[in-house]
Amino acid sequence: MNNPTNSNNGAETAFFDVFFTNATEAIFITDSEGQLITANPSFINLTGIELSEARGKAPLILRSEFHDADFYLALWRTLKRRGSWKGEIINKRGDGEICREWLSVSSHKNAAGEVTNYVGTFADSAGRMSQSFSKHYYDSMTKLPNRLLLQDRLEFMINHARRNNQLMALLLLDIDRFKMINDTFGYEAGDALLRITADRLVLCTRDVDVVFRSGDDEFAVILEEIARPEDAAKVAQRILDAGSEPLRIGGHDIYATTCIGISIFPTDGDGKVQILQNAEAAMRRAKEVGLNSFEHYKPTMNARAMERLSLENDLRNAVANSQLCAFYQPQIDIKSGRITGAEALLRWKHPNLGMVQPGQFIPIAEDTGLILSIGEWVLRTACVEARKSYGNEKPFVISVNLSASQFRQQNLFSIVESALKDADLPPDLLELEITETMSMKNPEDTMAVLRKLKDLGIRIAIDDFGTGYSSLSYLKRFPIDTLKIDRSFIIDIPENSRDAEIVKAIITMAHSLDLSVIAEGVEMEPQAQYLLENGCEKIQGYLFSPPVPLLEFEKLWAKHK
Ligand code: C2E
Ligand code: CA
Ligand code: CA
Repeated sequence: MNNPTNSNNGAETAFFDVFFTNATEAIFITDSEGQLITANPSFINLTGIELSEARGKAPLILRSEFHDADFYLALWRTLKRRGSWKGEIINKRGDGEICREWLSVSSHKNAAGEVTNYVGTFADSAGRMSQSFSKHYYDSMTKLPNRLLLQDRLEFMINHARRNNQLMALLLLDIDRFKMINDTFGYEAGDALLRITADRLVLCTRDVDVVFRSGDDEFAVILEEIARPEDAAKVAQRILDAGSEPLRIGGHDIYATTCIGISIFPTDGDGKVQILQNAEAAMRRAKEVGLNSFEHYKPTMNARAMERLSLENDLRNAVANSQLCAFYQPQIDIKSGRITGAEALLRWKHPNLGMVQPGQFIPIAEDTGLILSIGEWVLRTACVEARKSYGNEKPFVISVNLSASQFRQQNLFSIVESALKDADLPPDLLELEITETMSMKNPEDTMAVLRKLKDLGIRIAIDDFGTGYSSLSYLKRFPIDTLKIDRSFIIDIPENSRDAEIVKAIITMAHSLDLSVIAEGVEMEPQAQYLLENGCEKIQGYLFSPPVPLLEFEKLWAKHK
């Protein structure tokens, strides 16, 4: 066969010759069997193999140990089916050195439609490298390229798409609850899950798409040359569908679903950094929406992240700028209708946003660690204000919420002690609320902390009771005073008979453990009535009063004491 450089058009031939000879990319031409016919100087340069040596052999003489026989088979299959193959290939040079190359091969057909030649080009994509260096780019467990290579490849693909006016998509996938699966079933199960996920991803994508393991339980897929964004969604859906079947791992049926974030070049960003960041934002959003879902990137996702960031910055100065205050919600003895205590609830008077509710800023405070200083501020403020409110008259108990990180704080005891001392508040007038979930996380540790707090003479309440999974034996042993029935059980009583039964059971159990019970979120008279009939001593909720500023609370207190 005829060398395709022998074109019939003279000008074209001249151009091709110049191009062929001077290209920095290696170019090689094979016959229909894949035997090398000719190659350009760059080929010789990059491979270190002389043309005389290579001629008549398949370019497979370049193969390294990085790809197995299946890899080359798949390459040929794709080439025969689609007429082209593109991808990263790791070749071994004539001198035994290993090179990473970005290879693109396509077939050329004659008028009868038969393949006459294959033309391949490749560029040395990351220079030569040693075997150990190349291991930096591949994950040994899944055999997939890793995050480093993702960064590199993403840049390459974006440039390619930009030059050719094409769309490309980045999918980022995160395995749902991977840590829990790892903790519950052991790391062998976790490893098996990663390998199976890697295989699934490869099966769900086209041969030209590249799958990466980009993090511990995170994968990425680059979809090259998609026609429209919906194509990326289709791939995402296929991956999710594959994940809805349980996996049999180590004798367990494990549901390994994923969340996927999608960003598209050029619509969602014009460079590697933005495309990656936006796929991450989309993935986080998918996680919020629920297990086994995917999301396209939307600019509002960054707006939300920005909003949060600016809230975080503002929150750093909130204490110093005296923007925080405590509201107080009375706790009522149902029988007598008198105020017996108050829960301190944080409020943030933001200079531009107005009153910010704790649901919006406490999670931020917890993530950033600001909760420690904010928590200490609330504790000290509540003690001082409560002491001042009752003055020389009959006192009430002040309840303060403790967050999980405060509860684990080493100097919690000295903070509480000094808050009491500075406010001149008797310890038995302070009740600290910890949530049920928090208390049951490490019950032995909880026990130790509670004992030390109890030694100070303060009271302890278990908040949001009924939402966590309490161990009765620990509840029995914890030195606590009060159970606070979660609002979610109160909303539908007495009509909802299941909730009504649960509430009744909690009250009975609390009394058998010698604990007092308070119900929170009581809004309606029939709820209070039901609680009274079933022996609950105290209530807190809008029925009596919402949380109010100190001055208003003092008025209520003056009226009711
Ligand atoms: P929580 O400790 O369960 O507080 C009770 C929440 O229920 C308060 O919401 C209160 O305003 C609301 N509430 C009271 N009665 C009713 C009612 O009848 N109906 C309804 N629908 N809601 C009622 P708030 O003040 O927005 O606080 C929300 C959460 O923020 C608190 O839940 C607590 O977890 C946290 N929080 C508030 N202040 C602090 C604090 O100083 N430190 C810490 N660590 N967390 C705090
Ligand atoms: Ca509370
Ligand atoms: Ca609560």
